[in-house]
Parts: sequence; C-alpha cells; structure tokens
Amino acid sequence: MSTATTDLLQDARIAVLGYGSQGRAHALNLHESGLDVVVGAREGGPSWKRAQEDGLKVATPADAVKDADLVAVLTPDMTQPKLYEEAIAPNIKPGAALLFAHGFNVHFGRIAPRDDIDVNLVAPKGPGALVRSEYQRGRGVPCLVAVAQDATGQAEAKARAYAAGIGGARAMLIQTDFKEETETDLFGEQAVLCGGASELVLKGFETLTEAGYQPEIAYYEVMHELKLIVDLFYEGGLAKMLQFVSETAQYGDYTRGPRIVDADTKARMKQVLTEIQDGTFAREWTAEYDAGLPNYKKFKQADLEHPIEKVGAQLRARMAWLHKDKQAAAAAGEP
Ligand code: NDP
Ligand code: MG
Ligand code: MG
Repeated sequence: MSTATTDLLQDARIAVLGYGSQGRAHALNLHESGLDVVVGAREGGPSWKRAQEDGLKVATPADAVKDADLVAVLTPDMTQPKLYEEAIAPNIKPGAALLFAHGFNVHFGRIAPRDDIDVNLVAPKGPGALVRSEYQRGRGVPCLVAVAQDATGQAEAKARAYAAGIGGARAMLIQTDFKEETETDLFGEQAVLCGGASELVLKGFETLTEAGYQPEIAYYEVMHELKLIVDLFYEGGLAKMLQFVSETAQYGDYTRGPRIVDADTKARMKQVLTEIQDGTFAREWTAEYDAGLPNYKKFKQADLEHPIEKVGAQLRARMAWLHKDKQAAAAAGEP
C-alpha cells in the first residue's frame, strides 16, 4: 500500500518528547529502525529512568529539541501548549519538523507554530503497546498522515519517513488533514467509543437491576460480553458478528437495536459533532482543564462509584485469565 522508507531521516536527529503510551513505542521503533533518537523527558521523572533503562539517549525536552531535525510531541494533549512555549519554540531549529500524533492543539489554535518549521502528523490507529508489538513482529499499525504547515517542501515526506520508522508504513498510510483527524477522533471517542459505549452499558445495567435481576448476571450480559461482540466487529465487521450470534439474537438486533439507538440519537450525534466542529467542545474542555478539572473529577468519581464497578471488581477477581493477562502485560513492560 505504501512505499515510504526512512531514507529521508537517515541522517536526522529525532527528539521524542514524552515516553508514555505512544512515546515509548515510537522511540523504540525508530531506534530499532536505525534512526538517531533522543527522548525528551522531565528530569528525575519516571519516564527519564525508563527510557534510560531501555537503552535510549535521554535529555530534558529543551535540550532534546535543540539538536533535533524532527520533534515528535507525544505528551498528553493538554500539556502540549506549555511544552511548546517553554521547550520547543525557543529551541527548535529553522527547517525542522514538529510532528504530532493528534491534531487537537494545532487545529484549535492552542499551539501556533513558528512559520519557519514544518508541522505534520502521524497518528497510529492503535494504542502504543500495539504500535510496539506489531513492529516487533515485523508488521505495523496503519497511520493517518497529515501536514499543517510546509516550510521546507518536505513536510509530508518527513511524516511518511517517520511513519515508516515506527512501522506504520508496513501496514497502510492514510492521507488526511489536521481538521479531519482531530474532529473524527473526538467524535469517535465521544459518541461511540467511550461516551456512547459506556452510557449504553450503564443504562443497560440499570435497566436490568432496577427490574430486580441480579447485578452479577446483569454485569455479564451488558459489560463482560461486550468484548465478544466487539472482537467479532474488529475481526470481521457486522458480517462476522451476525455469523457468530444466534438467529434469535440477530432478530432482536434487527428489530430492537434501532429502537434503542434511533433517529433522535443520531440527531444528537450530529449536535455533538457540530460542537466539535465549531470549537465549543475544545473551549469547554480547555476551560475545564485550566480550572483544575472540577467537573472532570466529579464525573469520574461518579463513574467509579457506580454499582456496576463494585460487582464488576468482585466478578473479575474470580476470572483468573484476566489476571494472567495483566501479569504478562506488566512483565512485558506495557503501560
Ligand atoms: P501519555 O499520557 O502516555 O504520555 C505520558 C508521557 O508524557 C510521560 O512520558 C510523561 O512524563 C509525559 N508528560 C506528562 N506530562 C508532561 C508535562 N507536563 N511535560 C512533559 N512531559 C509530560 O500520552 P499518550 O501516548 O496517550 O498520548 C500522546 C499523544 O499521542 C497525544 O497527542 C495523543 O492524543 C496521541 N495519541 C494517543 C494514542 C493512544 O493510544 N494513547 C493513540 C493515538 C494518538 P513523566 O513520566 O515525567 O510523567
Ligand atoms: Mg483521542
Ligand atoms: Mg460515562
């Protein structure tokens, strides 16, 4: 699908700022692709130590940026504007590239990059652990690639070379722009993946328990078994899901599903999308973050105190295979 190679970055110094989910995977993959990587981490922080133990060069973000031809910004999105002001803007070389894995800050104007640098994006369509494990298997996770500012005429080529270095080009590179990547990412997590799915589970659990059914059984029906369905979607779309569930389940799906998620739901999805597109969500979330996350903390606490969490913890404690996975992940050094 893609013929991108790392050639363009062969003599480049790449600074990876942040050594979390994406940062660690990118830095290790780029390093093993033969590129010159320095991790930018907070001095004395857990990431500094971890990157050193992994055998990588480590410097403060400001020092890492100074010599870099490409700076990958892989700290949490809300921390990036300050990092840009303090460590990147005063230090990044003219003609260097500033690379993101999500377009939020650039698209919504929270970072206004200097006009003498390239600004591009490589967004893997998977968590860091998968970006790493696929690379180690000789494969890769598909990546979105975009350019917001092309100062050198090579902004896109640099993004493609970076995507090759992390393994993404072994799978597929999809061309996009910052607006499309940012807006679709936010919509997906709000309407379907995190917001939609968790509310669907909670309302289903409440409906069953309020009708007098045992919480243990409700938990299995609406939360635990969701994984089976999602795995089938993931592997083979609707077709595979329909192939593996019973005729009764299919008939219930066809006739009841559209009554639960109906035209009104879709109208509200469009409203949520509009709030993303017109910047309402970005303004609200930025104000919430700047105020110290008062509502975020409240909402999170309410989720964690929901009855499904109590029964879920008890049930998961009895499902030995869940713990084995956790231990294996910890042993493999996955975050
Ligand atoms: P993480 O939350 O895993 O990043 C944690 C890292 O950031 C740690 O190294 C931490 O260092 C460092 N860090 C945290 N705060 C600061 C700060 N104030 N200054 C400097 N360093 C800091 O991030 P993700 O990997 O989840 O996300 C990185 C980017 O990738 C984001 O733009 C995100 O949207 C995008 N993305 C993420 C995906 C994912 O699967 N998670 C998927 C695709 C894109 P320390 O150890 O010192 O605390
Ligand atoms: Mg996101
Ligand atoms: Mg929720």
